[in-house]
Amino acid sequence: MAINTFHAIKGLVVLIRKKLFAFVYVAGLVLVALAVTVSHFIVDYQLEVGRKADQVVRLGYQQAVLAERVNQLSFRYVLSAGGMASASSQQELTDAVAQMYDNHLILITSEDTAEFARAADEIYFGAAYELDLKLRTFLGAARELLQRDAGQIGPQHPLARFLGTEQTGELQSLLQQALQRYKATADSALRSTRITLWGLYAFIMIVLVLESLLVFRLVFKALMNKAEAFRELAQTDPLTGCFNRRSFMLAAEQAQGQVNRCQESHALLMLDIDHFKQVNDTYGHPVGDEVIRMLAKTCIDHLRSTDMLGRLGGEEFAVLLRGTTVDNAEKVAENLRQRLEACAVSCEGRDEPLHFTVSIGISRLEAGDDSAMDAIERADVALYRAKTSGRNRVVCHGRT
Ligand code: GH3
Ligand code: MG
Ligand code: MG
Repeated sequence: MAINTFHAIKGLVVLIRKKLFAFVYVAGLVLVALAVTVSHFIVDYQLEVGRKADQVVRLGYQQAVLAERVNQLSFRYVLSAGGMASASSQQELTDAVAQMYDNHLILITSEDTAEFARAADEIYFGAAYELDLKLRTFLGAARELLQRDAGQIGPQHPLARFLGTEQTGELQSLLQQALQRYKATADSALRSTRITLWGLYAFIMIVLVLESLLVFRLVFKALMNKAEAFRELAQTDPLTGCFNRRSFMLAAEQAQGQVNRCQESHALLMLDIDHFKQVNDTYGHPVGDEVIRMLAKTCIDHLRSTDMLGRLGGEEFAVLLRGTTVDNAEKVAENLRQRLEACAVSCEGRDEPLHFTVSIGISRLEAGDDSAMDAIERADVALYRAKTSGRNRVVCHGRT
């Protein structure tokens, strides 16, 4: 039982290690998605908070202005006894009183804006301030005034004096204090939301930077390595590790381009193992493969780094000798022929090692050739001559 649990945990650890990139990557994305979603809701909430705070501050400001207005309109009403002027100030005073009372009810009773309006509760209801009571008394006095005929009341009437500037000074001051509290609460709500948003922004940035450093960079590196490995694989002959036909032909065509443009001198060798079919028939296919590998290795060891060995198919190879004249190519080819002749391939179950020989045809890439295939065909002709004239020899195209 314990062993099973141990194996299960071990398996899980191995799985997590293997999938670590994917885990970290997905976890990072989930974190960023979460942070973005939370930010979205905070911004949405902030807009709503802003609307409510704005409404409360606006009402608080209106109350201070309306108190001033009620004060002035009462004075005008008292002075405008009789006529049109009296009727209009009476109407304006009635509207101002109604407006101020409505605002007051919203500020102290509305559930919608309660979280902000509550900031001034102490001023409205605290024994030290009693703004609610004072405001109701103030509005009551204004209503009382409106019940009376303006002609019967002079500026010295107690109601007129109560609504006068000196008397309403305290009310004004309390309304201003309430307004300051509304503003302070709105500011602090805005500040804390702003801090939260900056925190989330920093969090998203840190997650993205860590993702880039720990995941994206490594994934990118791994992909580049994989791409490089695939590129090499696509260019390489699996048996010998030298270039395959496709990549050799690409290089040969590039060299042909240089010859056509810059009159460079490049030579080409075609190399074919002599009587290779017999090798396979006598020693078996695996030994034949070993001979092909030995040939490729020997050639690579003795060629320059600028030369290129390609396996064109079966036991047939080509060598591109860059910056080499035909005379020098002949020396290189002869050298290779001798080294290959000296190679010994040990065979299982036999005392004697296996020796093999090659025939080599040489040509050069000619300016004006349509493609490198032309030079390959000429080297093939020379190779055929090497075969027909006895094998294990080097023949240059165009020479007797
Ligand atoms: P020649 O001297 O005229 O070149 O004679 P040859 O027997 O070498 O010529 P031929 O082209 O008739 O035979 C080539 C043989 O190479 C035939 C084929 O079975 C063998 N061969 C081709 N590819 C491979 C390979 O990858 N491994 C092995 N072991 N043999 C291969
Ligand atoms: Mg052959
Ligand atoms: Mg052949």
